[in-house]
Order: sequence, then C-alpha cells, then structure tokens
Amino acid sequence: MYKEAFLLGETPLHPLTRFAQYLGVDSCWIKRDDLTGLAFGGNKVRKLEYLLGRVKREQYDLIITGGSPGSNHCRLTAAAANRLGVETWLCFSGKHLGPLQGNRFLDQLLGAKIVLTGCYGSADLLQAMEEKAEEARQQGRKPLVIPVGGSTTVGDYGYVRAWYELESQRKKQGILPFQEIYVTVGTGGTMAGLLAGQRMSRQQTSKVIGVSVWLKREEAAKEVARLTNDLLREHGETTEILPESIPILDQFIGLKYGVPSPEGNQAIRCLAQLEGIFTDPVYTGKALAGMIDRVSQKKDRQNQHLLFWHTGGTPALFTQVDSFFKL
Ligand SMILES: *Cc1c(COP(=O)(O)O)cnc(C)c1O
Repeated sequence: MYKEAFLLGETPLHPLTRFAQYLGVDSCWIKRDDLTGLAFGGNKVRKLEYLLGRVKREQYDLIITGGSPGSNHCRLTAAAANRLGVETWLCFSGKHLGPLQGNRFLDQLLGAKIVLTGCYGSADLLQAMEEKAEEARQQGRKPLVIPVGGSTTVGDYGYVRAWYELESQRKKQGILPFQEIYVTVGTGGTMAGLLAGQRMSRQQTSKVIGVSVWLKREEAAKEVARLTNDLLREHGETTEILPESIPILDQFIGLKYGVPSPEGNQAIRCLAQLEGIFTDPVYTGKALAGMIDRVSQKKDRQNQHLLFWHTGGTPALFTQVDSFFKL
C-alpha cells in the first residue's frame, strides 16, 4: 500500500497517574494521537498517510473532501495536501459556515477552497463532492475524492498500523495488555482499524470499547462491523466480526453530534486539571465522559489496567468557549 509519511514518528504512550487515582484503578495510560505532528494533530493524520499515498504517483492535482464546517478531517486533509503541493476543496454540509474560529479559521489559513453544499447526511455530501469532482475534470484537472471522515479500507489501514504501533510500544516498555481500550467513534473507521489490527495480531486480551458521538449504538456497531470486515477481507483474513460483539456506548452523545454536553465538558476539565492534557467538546471529551462513567460503575476497579486513545480535535475547544460557562 502506498504511503506518505505525515507523522513525526510513533505517538507517545504514557501513564496518567493522577487520573488513574481519580478513577480508583490500578493504572490508566493514554495514547497521544492528539500529537500526530501535523497541523495540531489528530487521528485523521494516520488515515491521510494512506489516503493520500497515491497522490504523487498518480499525479492527482486536487483533493476534494468534506464534512461539517469545523471538521478536523477537513483541516488535516488541507494540511496534508499542502505538504504534497496539491490544492484542496472542502465541501461543507449545511447552509451556514458559522464563525471563523477553530478549524474553520485554520482551513482559511491553510488556503483551502470552501464550498457550502446545503446538503445534510454523508450520502448527499458524497454526491456533492462527486459533482464538484466532475466540474474539476471538465476544467482539465485530476481530482481525488476522499469520503467524510476518511473512513475507507485505505484510510482505516492507518489504524491497523496504529494497533501494531501500540502493541510494539507496550511490549518494549514491558507493559501488560490493557484490559480495556476506550476510543471515540464518529464514522467508525478508527475503531474498525484497531479491531482489525487486533484480530490480525491474534491479541485477545484487550477489549476495545467505542464511545459514539454521533450514531446510536446499533447503527454505530453495524458501521464499525462493516468497516472492520472490509479491512479483514482486504488483508486476507477469513474471520468476520459481528455487530453484536462490538461494545459501543451511546449515552454520551448529548443533545446531538457537535453540541457540547455537560458530562463531556466536565470530563474535559477533569483531565485538564489532573494531567494538563486537553480533550475537545465534540469528540474526545464525550468519549472520556463515557470512560469515566463506565469505570466508576465497576466493582473491581483496583485491578483495572486501562487505556484512553486520544484522537485529537483540540482546535474545537476554541469554538465552544461559551458552553463551558453555561454547562
Ligand atoms: C474524526 C474524529 C474521531 C472519529 O474517528 P472516526 O474514524 O470517524 O470514528 C474521533 N476524534 C476526533 C478528534 C476526530 O476528529
């Protein structure tokens, strides 16, 4: 598989001593994919290493992707494309761009062209992106369309590799397999990559638990299973994963995707004040709230050895300042 190197190396894996004490568990570690090394970092950098892997070789001269205004995926696609010297068009859902803050502001600094589609839902947005691509082709250009969230078999492979990275770091540092690994679920590709990696490496100890910030449990599990099975098939595995076997928490979405929740904001404050690490109100803060809640309900907490997989998103902190004073 073709790859561009955007990460600056392995992301740190380190213990959260004070947070572990707060949870009442034996140990809690964090995998710092907020520090993937490009344009404020985040999980999408791992996907983009593979999604943009063919750009130079096949001489694409335009990247088209989309999401909601303020999408981390859009910011990072524009940044990665700049590294390759290729223009980016960002197709945003909805009818309003919102204030020029956070990722929206960063997109502007990165020089991406913004298209407001008026569409809602991933399928309509993908169609709008395809129409833009056709327009570009008519102008003699060669566009590459990347679906929302970069969750394709190619992009998600970045998280198969991330699973192996975690396992090798863990073994090198003499750390036992984590009993539970908590990760945010948006479009589901990140969790799918981890699950596929886990299957491929035949590691059966860790339970990867997704905390959804968008879809209800059943829908999210179906989507993660589909993406995981695509990956397993692509890489010659004959086993399949069933949606029912994928643990996903969906009680931490709050009002809806993108709207800060009281529990999420509380979790952001908690990690910031105990460990000096920022999470965000759209993704990782809500996932952290899910982890805190689930762990606090356990009876045998003292024996727990856990991991929180930080997936980034911190620029959104600066777009949601008000919510911290209302909630
Ligand atoms: C996109 C994103 C996620 C979700 O990743 P998926 O692969 O879409 O499930 C989680 N956290 C942050 C910060 C993100 O930007």
